[in-house]
Amino acid sequence: MKIECKDCGAEMKVPNDSVVGEIVTCPDCGADFEITSKVEEKIELKPAESVGEDWGQ
Ligand SMILES: [Zn+2]
Repeated sequence: MKIECKDCGAEMKVPNDSVVGEIVTCPDCGADFEITSKVEEKIELKPAESVGEDWGQ
């Protein structure tokens, strides 16, 4: 399946067997997104925070 990059709008391919918590990377801008919810064909993403960056939580 495909999902639109929240950063640049490019299409990202998401494997059909992907699971919540998996990271997908935009082939266009290189942004990382974490799958937060997956219900059949509907996927929700949030920007994945880069490792080592502490947001104080
Ligand atoms: Zn992108």
